[in-house]
Amino acid sequence: MKTALFPGSFDPITLGHADIITRTSGLFDRIIIGIGNNTSKQYMFSLKQRTEWIRKCFEQNPKVEVHSYSGLTVEFCKKMNALYIIRGLRSSSDFQYEQNIAQMNKSLAPEIETVFIPCRPAYTAITSTIVRDIIRNNGSIVSFVPDCVVL
Ligand code: ADP
Repeated sequence: MKTALFPGSFDPITLGHADIITRTSGLFDRIIIGIGNNTSKQYMFSLKQRTEWIRKCFEQNPKVEVHSYSGLTVEFCKKMNALYIIRGLRSSSDFQYEQNIAQMNKSLAPEIETVFIPCRPAYTAITSTIVRDIIRNNGSIVSFVPDCVVL
């Protein structure tokens, strides 16, 4: 069974994330959405809330599972038997950053491959950071997040 991990903060999940998950679920037998839970990071939404939104979003897709983890991503991959890490690329600056992480992960766990998926052009500008900013300023986020995200 080909299992892939899609790690991230998903604070909150956006249309960009959801699109990467939908597109890659055709490539793998099982997609684990790994919600990073870093105790030194301040999140806008609780782990429970972030998990519920993603579960609701993919409840019709039996390949998608949602889990949280802390610690090294490659260690979580091993625990879940995932040999692939999926990352979305929005821009060349995403690539610079992601390439470093992928190379370090390759050194730590040579059996695990990172798979980069280019973002759909319409979603290039969508980031969870900007979505949180819009929420803080009472704007509408309906064009940037899946319908399951209800505030
Ligand atoms: P992190 O905290 O690791 O940056 P995010 O939840 O912001 O986590 O992102 C998780 C993954 O989703 C990353 O690979 C990121 O590049 C990708 N991603 C984020 N926004 C988009 C988008 N609009 N389109 C495609 N991929 C995206």
